[in-house]
Amino acid sequence: MRLVIRQDDLKEIIKMTERSAVEVCGFLFGRREGNDFIVEEIRFIPNRLNSPTAFEMEPLEMVKAIDGAEERGLGVVGIFHSHLKCPPRPSGRDLKGMRLWPVVWLIVTSKGEVRAWILKEGKVEAVEVEDEVDSVRGDIEELAKSVRRGMFNGGGTEKELEELRIEAHAQRELD
Ligand SMILES: [Zn+2]
Repeated sequence: MRLVIRQDDLKEIIKMTERSAVEVCGFLFGRREGNDFIVEEIRFIPNRLNSPTAFEMEPLEMVKAIDGAEERGLGVVGIFHSHLKCPPRPSGRDLKGMRLWPVVWLIVTSKGEVRAWILKEGKVEAVEVEDEVDSVRGDIEELAKSVRRGMFNGGGTEKELEELRIEAHAQRELD
């Protein structure tokens, strides 16, 4: 299971975490593709507890954000929040939230650590976080469109796409 998020979006969450005296929180909107959760948009929501050790998203802002995302065809794939003084693991309080919102929980610390978790059959499991540079995603999306348009003929298109994905990532490693 992977959470795929743009590097710029992740940087933005880390930056806000570093600057804030209270926990920051919000939604990761996007779509699910097999075992991947693809983040298309991040949205900060005010933490109504104004606390450095806990968060609760402002309900009205939550509704507005979800409605807006749905209009753009996006769903909630994750919830993010920051930990200012403890490691990026779900707290007891977070676990309660995870039961209510069984999506990916991304936790960022003020030291810039990033971890993602999901509750599966009552157990917390780690989700791999893949931060993608924009250009790579653009290439892959173009490629996916080409595949759909049938530029690659017949069998093995998924495999070809996967190979190109690997290639795109290998390229990124070189950059
Ligand atoms: Zn927490």
